[in-house]
Amino acid sequence: GKNGVPVAENFRLEQSTISDTVQAGQVRVKTLYLSVDPYMRCRMNEDTGSDYLRPWQLSEVADGGGIGVVEESQHHNLAKGDFVTSFTWPWQTVAVLDGDSLQKLVPQLVNGRLSYFLGAAGITGLTALLGIREKGHVAVGANQTMVVSGAAGACGSLAGQIGRLEGCSRVVGIAGTDEKCSILVQEMGFDAAINYKKGDVAKQLRELCPGGVDVYFDNVGGDISDTVISQMNQNSHIILCGQISQYNKDVPYPPPLPPDIEKIQKERNITRERFLVLNYMDKQEASVLQLCQWIQEGKLKVRETVVEGLANIGAAFQSMMSGGNIGKQIVSVSK
Ligand code: NAP
Repeated sequence: GKNGVPVAENFRLEQSTISDTVQAGQVRVKTLYLSVDPYMRCRMNEDTGSDYLRPWQLSEVADGGGIGVVEESQHHNLAKGDFVTSFTWPWQTVAVLDGDSLQKLVPQLVNGRLSYFLGAAGITGLTALLGIREKGHVAVGANQTMVVSGAAGACGSLAGQIGRLEGCSRVVGIAGTDEKCSILVQEMGFDAAINYKKGDVAKQLRELCPGGVDVYFDNVGGDISDTVISQMNQNSHIILCGQISQYNKDVPYPPPLPPDIEKIQKERNITRERFLVLNYMDKQEASVLQLCQWIQEGKLKVRETVVEGLANIGAAFQSMMSGGNIGKQIVSVSK
């Protein structure tokens, strides 16, 4: 419901028997990996706030991004042993699915790390890359400073690295623990990172971005974003990726800025256009290949937090929503 914090007890595990029959056009799949993501919080409300998101129904199987292996096929294009993915994978260990709803995966593209197709080489990576390309106005040689909030999360950790690969000269992250900040700088090549739960964020940001902020990849909204926007330059750009600090609240999306921050945004001509990765799926194939190439070349460092077992998926969702993950939160279902 609205204004509630999600907890593991919102989910329950049930055992049931699925039909053995695989009809024409269908495949039986064994689930390998499931994704838990912040947008799922919106699916826990009767009104998700978006026309592209259906609410989960009480006492029905939840679904989301998933990867599995085909065990039996009655589909012309899929064979036993193929690895496949879908955005609407049921949270089940085994399922019979419509073959047309699945995309085939090539494990070699990600050095065999199949779960990357839910993160760095999947929707998460696409969100970071296309968000920057479509809304960031990043240009090589333009000496731009990028700030990323939610920086140690799935999208954020990639966004900072991609911002650099696309041409930003300085990248600063904002995240919720010292460990996360240290990984961002030591492992992911951020120039600096701020723990927003410690100290004065505005002061640290002023010190770390002496030339102001040119591009802001915003995953969180709320106070953190108000602080960043106050330090943005004339004609700069916000990539409005997400507003996770507001997802448990009953507010419209995107939430309006407070009047004083909106005044700054307007006076400085800062763009803040809604970004939805699903609107750019015509660029999916080429962009996934770009992400896979960076992964193979070691230019994109990938972190995952993996939880074992379908029984723990509710706990994994709760943990991710409260900052327990580093990089992409994955649930491994096969064991
Ligand atoms: P994520 O960042 O891996 O996980 C959520 C993280 O958000 C947590 O680890 C936590 O890290 C941080 N967080 C939680 N509550 C917070 C709060 N109140 N204030 C500040 N930070 C908070 O998740 P993700 O999948 O990469 O998603 C990030 C954002 O992108 C979400 O807003 C999501 O909705 C959005 N998204 C948008 C699109 C699109 O098409 N526009 C597509 C995918 C995802 P800390 O320890 O740092 O607090």
